[in-house]
Amino acid sequence: MKIVEVRERTFPIASQIRNAVIDFSKMTLSAVAVVTDVVRDGAPVVGYGFNSNGRYGQGPLLRDRFIPRLMSADSRSLLDESGENLDPGRIWAALMTNEKPGGHGERSVAVGTVDMAVWDAVAKIARKPLFRLLADRYGAAATPRVFVYAAGGYYYPGKGPSALQDEMRRYVERGYTVVKMKIGGAPLEEDLRRIESVLQVVGDGSRLAVDANGKFDLETALAYGRALAPYGLRWYEEAGDPLDYALQAELGHRYEGPVATGENLFSHQDARNLLRYGGMRKDRDILQFDCALSYGLVEYLRTLDVVRSEGWSPRRCIPHGGHQLSLHIAAGLGLGGNESYPDLFQPFGGFPDPVRRPASAPASGDGRARCRRERDRRCVACPIPSWPWSRPPRSISLLPVTASAAGGPRRTRTCRAEPSPRRARYRAACR
Ligand SMILES: [Mg+2]
Repeated sequence: MKIVEVRERTFPIASQIRNAVIDFSKMTLSAVAVVTDVVRDGAPVVGYGFNSNGRYGQGPLLRDRFIPRLMSADSRSLLDESGENLDPGRIWAALMTNEKPGGHGERSVAVGTVDMAVWDAVAKIARKPLFRLLADRYGAAATPRVFVYAAGGYYYPGKGPSALQDEMRRYVERGYTVVKMKIGGAPLEEDLRRIESVLQVVGDGSRLAVDANGKFDLETALAYGRALAPYGLRWYEEAGDPLDYALQAELGHRYEGPVATGENLFSHQDARNLLRYGGMRKDRDILQFDCALSYGLVEYLRTLDVVRSEGWSPRRCIPHGGHQLSLHIAAGLGLGGNESYPDLFQPFGGFPDPVRRPASAPASGDGRARCRRERDRRCVACPIPSWPWSRPPRSISLLPVTASAAGGPRRTRTCRAEPSPRRARYRAACR
């Protein structure tokens, strides 16, 4: 067996939203299809991947460096010991041939996108949902329900508190019991009014996380920390620059509530530095490394080794990005949850299946003590999608333009209806 082709395209995910640091008016991402010569249910197995959000498309790096490097490798060197499936570790090594250490930049995003597609193909060839494959391969107990929270609350032209409340109400009505909103893109007093308006909807600080997207200097981070403390928020995310471990450590020293960071650290070495020098607290803080941005799952397995070797539980990991690779990793390797973008970054955001609220979890408005108990369980459970997890919707075509019978160009169909036996098998495997 072999990889016969790797396709990539850049897609727009532009919108008018903004966080404290950037707007998304020209945001793009890369989607990749790894086409194999393995046939399942009458069609070649194709693995799909995309690079999360927030870092733009990686087309030039993919086209100029990584895809040619992968396609020039001896195809037998990319297979596992059985010779019947791809080996993501060997593929990763081929992609990273002649790459110097350090300076991770955005090559980690390009490699992570290919890696996501490779794991999708591996799971499809193995005829298993990826989370089952990961649990089997790495000796973990698969847990096909994962805590997810709704990430939103961006700044938007003309969006006042009532529009923000409407957005959060939609998440709550869909079953989310924890939501996240942006801060730092307005003066502190205005942000506090926004926070209080959301608390009126979600009912308790433990149901609300806030995210400054790395904007603050130490003084501002601490000022926000003092103002946020009385709310008892779920967490205070990325207050300062992702690489300013001294700031993070000082914030952890002064701010008692949980903090979260890591989505902009792109290697296991950077993750290790955060745990060594960032003052993160194992009993409450959240690690948000996003494998799609940081060299993929092959590297994330190394990051999890670092997490454990530094004395942390993988359950403190709730990755950034809202993609289904991290959903499967969370379910298969015992993470604490996953981010979710129910409405943003379409058609790449959200999950195919609806979130579900455990019967014991209150919707909103309950007391803080009860919410703490729920937090220790899982506020929102998301079943693993009962469908191949990264098959793109029809609006995303990675297939080549081909000549029609009449001689004119036409775009081939992106996907086709799955035969019901396959869907039944997949659903059974997910249970
Ligand atoms: Mg964030």
